[in-house]
Amino acid sequence: METILIDGKKISEEIKQELQQKILRLKDQGIIPGLAAVLVGENPASQTYVRSKAKACENVGIYSEVIRKPAETTQTELMEIVRELNIRSDIDGILVQLPLPGHIDESAVTLLIDPAKDVDGFHPYNVGMMLLGRPTFLPCTPAGIIELLRRYRIDPAGKEVVVLGRSNIVGKPVGIMLMQKAEMANATVTFCHSRTSDLGHICRRADILIAAIGKARFVKADMVKEGAVIIDVGVNRVEDKTAKKGYRLAGDVDFEPCRQKASYISPVPGGVGPMTIAMLLTNTVNASEKRTSRNN
Ligand code: NAP
Repeated sequence: METILIDGKKISEEIKQELQQKILRLKDQGIIPGLAAVLVGENPASQTYVRSKAKACENVGIYSEVIRKPAETTQTELMEIVRELNIRSDIDGILVQLPLPGHIDESAVTLLIDPAKDVDGFHPYNVGMMLLGRPTFLPCTPAGIIELLRRYRIDPAGKEVVVLGRSNIVGKPVGIMLMQKAEMANATVTFCHSRTSDLGHICRRADILIAAIGKARFVKADMVKEGAVIIDVGVNRVEDKTAKKGYRLAGDVDFEPCRQKASYISPVPGGVGPMTIAMLLTNTVNASEKRTSRNN
């Protein structure tokens, strides 16, 4: 059986091209979608994420603004920044890059973001709407996974899905989205986590196996059913002295042996990763379109 490689890079480029067309139509109506990213502190990974989000915005024609603040920024100061962004008419999407420094209450900040500008889909209002299966901003990585399945015509309906990981940003939402009574959903979902017994047995039941645990090459071939679809969300650094940076990126899936059993598999890098930004841009443009319809 030939295994199909799920090319997230290619799909994300397709999405960006589609968005460019929408953005041009919005510009004809005098609307430029805008995204503000707030970065507190000097966490190198966060700096890289914010830079690449801003660059992706510019490339498709979204106005982007990065607000950089020192690590000593107080909760009150950060809340004031969010309040201002909430009322700015040129900003459709607000993202506060996580993690925030320890002295700041992340959930209080998330709660303050206007749910209509919460393009990360982390506000409890949007999380609740997602749980109810109502239209809302969906968190970007899970939405990106569903979009990959859609574009590869892998319909989850009636399939057994096993999700490894139960984080609020990946595991929980992707499982919830796939079990909804909806298009690109209707799956039977099992969640696994660090306290799950006999993980291998559960994983072997999966028609679609989604690994989001953050442990390099954790999923071995003997945990995979013949013909399964494997979505690898993990991004892990593994030491590699031959690599320029001294490390390479590896997913949560032991790629080569698992690929041999899978019908479809997403690689790391180049699978789910590029989809996260594509969905962030999508959410921002959708927010902007709502602004247009409110103005009309
Ligand atoms: P997280 O918050 O650390 O959650 C990890 C989850 O995996 C937890 O639910 C944990 O269980 C579970 N887990 C850990 N070890 C396990 C084990 N041995 N067996 C079974 N379950 C285990 O991680 P996350 O934020 O969801 O991210 C997961 C991975 O995806 C990371 O590698 C991250 O870098 C990557 N990621 C990629 C993207 C992207 O590509 N755009 C976006 C987000 C995350 P407990 O709940 O019991 O602790």
